[in-house]
Amino acid sequence: MAEDSNKVFITCALPYANGPCHLGHLRSTYIPADIYARYHRMKSTDVLFVCATDEHGTPIAVQAEKEGVPPLEIATRNYELIKKDLESCDISFDNFSRTTDPLHYEISQNFFLNLYEKDYIYPKTIEQLYCPECERFLPDRYVEGICPQCNAEGARGDHCETCGRHLEPVQLIEPRCLICDSTPEVRESNQYYFRLSDFQDQLKECIEGNPELPANVRNYAMQWINEGLKDWILTRDMDWGIPVPLDDAEGKIIYVWGEAFLGYISSAAQWARRVDKPWEPYWDDRAVHFIGKDIIYHHSIFWQALLMAYGCKLPYNIIAGEYLSLEGRKMSTSKNWVIWASDFMEKFDCDLLRYYLVANAPLTRDTDFSWDDFQRRVNDELADVVGNFMHRTFSFTHRFFEGEIPQPGPLNEYDQEVETQIKETPQIVGEHIENFNFREGLKAIIKLAKLGNKYFNDQEPWKAVKENPERAATCLYLCNQLAKVISVIITPYIPGKAHEMREILGLNIATPDLKWAGSAEFIPAGTVINKAKPLFAKIEDKVIQKEKDDLYKNLEETTTMKKIISIEDFIKLDLRVGKIIGAEKVKDSDKLLKLMVDVKDKKLQVVAGLANNYTPEDILNQKVIVLVNLKPAKLFGIKSEGMVLAADDSLCLLTAPDADIGEGIR
Ligand SMILES: [Zn+2]
Ligand SMILES: [Zn+2]
Repeated sequence: MAEDSNKVFITCALPYANGPCHLGHLRSTYIPADIYARYHRMKSTDVLFVCATDEHGTPIAVQAEKEGVPPLEIATRNYELIKKDLESCDISFDNFSRTTDPLHYEISQNFFLNLYEKDYIYPKTIEQLYCPECERFLPDRYVEGICPQCNAEGARGDHCETCGRHLEPVQLIEPRCLICDSTPEVRESNQYYFRLSDFQDQLKECIEGNPELPANVRNYAMQWINEGLKDWILTRDMDWGIPVPLDDAEGKIIYVWGEAFLGYISSAAQWARRVDKPWEPYWDDRAVHFIGKDIIYHHSIFWQALLMAYGCKLPYNIIAGEYLSLEGRKMSTSKNWVIWASDFMEKFDCDLLRYYLVANAPLTRDTDFSWDDFQRRVNDELADVVGNFMHRTFSFTHRFFEGEIPQPGPLNEYDQEVETQIKETPQIVGEHIENFNFREGLKAIIKLAKLGNKYFNDQEPWKAVKENPERAATCLYLCNQLAKVISVIITPYIPGKAHEMREILGLNIATPDLKWAGSAEFIPAGTVINKAKPLFAKIEDKVIQKEKDDLYKNLEETTTMKKIISIEDFIKLDLRVGKIIGAEKVKDSDKLLKLMVDVKDKKLQVVAGLANNYTPEDILNQKVIVLVNLKPAKLFGIKSEGMVLAADDSLCLLTAPDADIGEGIR
């Protein structure tokens, strides 16, 4: 950072407006960015801290189509939730906007035009999937089919969940339209590409040449650059999005990743209009992006190349937080293995979470949220170390010195050592925060609080006050100073609790006036402080047990039961009684039997995974329940036209009572 630099433009990755925030989002991005922003405000850096919700893209459009509402309604609903989540976690944005704001449209279209006029964006005809039924082109997530790489079904147009590969919609085998379920066809379509490949060398230079970039960002970025960059498709045929601002581009929108970054700029521009100040000097001084590691590619490659093409300053740094797992398992919103921010903040003070998620691990490492560990850190560190130290200091000051910070006697060696630590810690913590080592900074604060506890114990002021009152006075004088320093320098981490600490000390400083520089200045002896009150309550076992029970219940429900289907889904199943009139083992397979099933109006060949539990002789002539309208598939190269029903993973074949039920009865 330049020595004379005094402005900073801080951003958080734009939350996607298809659902509320969970703890993973807060850990990787919002809490670290907020610590950085709050610290810099205290350092008198001129901070502009902005964010917005990302509201375009196919997931929101698909969701809207499913619910039969306009996409904007979905986005607005989630914008409200996300905004509330971030406020409840005390994230101190100067502005929080939306990518559906008209100003964002204007800025994004101008940006696109600027690059088009410089020939960094060019048209190209490509093959895309078109649904004749819906009469439109189908962008990525509007199509599903079989993955060409691993043959898994249900691969999306842009991504196969089974093998994790990136896909193009035209690569899918047996694609189908997610809106109407019909088979799309390949048609030619004109799209616009960004000359990403032109920036290969420049990007390499800037990533290698930026000493600030953390290792995780640099390593990922270099890996992709070394693989070679290809030009990047920047438009889609879709209604939901920002229209491509060119005459011959009707029905086309700018791809969501081609405009979402500009949400940083449009949010800043919205702020600038509101406060009547320019935002540009902040960007030109230094910009710091906080993101989750899943979008390192987008920020280090796409965004930096777009900025190079536009011709403006590149970000000073990109900080990518790694993942948070939950109780040792990967978080999953679809499996409800997640803790939503709003649920958490309803029951616990957000500062406990802010503390825990930072103390838990460095930002550049994956880590785990566990309820037991959360309880342990809150009880052992916040309550026992910080809270206990302050409580003893403040109550003793009242008990023995009538609430006045006492006049110290001469400082002995131990006192001097404590004094030195008090004076030096703010500098240490500040350097860690400036270098994005948030956890190290917090550890230095806890270390100081531990020293305070030890000093208090060693000095035994409760005895000294009778035998050597000057000793007790010196001890309490220094302990109050130590408490004061902590109450200031812990502010970026736990702003609410820090404010409570300062209230007890009688330091009623409004947040904007709280300065880092004065953090180690001592409160004069004779100052009267307020009555002690508990800062951190211990979390009881039964509270944690209840949270764990509720969470694990979700897991059981979702693993033992598949997704709820509607009666409309169920009646689509054509279930009939059939008689097995042929059965043989499938060659080279331990599991499969090839069956011929008579369902009266036809005979179906069915390949079933029953061989582990049934021999062909066991089931010949059995009457079974057959699903007859299943889409035919090939298993081991053998055509299978239906499914015989079995329960418990093929352990138990469902047979029809023998008596009078004939084949073909539904
Ligand atoms: Zn696959
Ligand atoms: Zn369709």
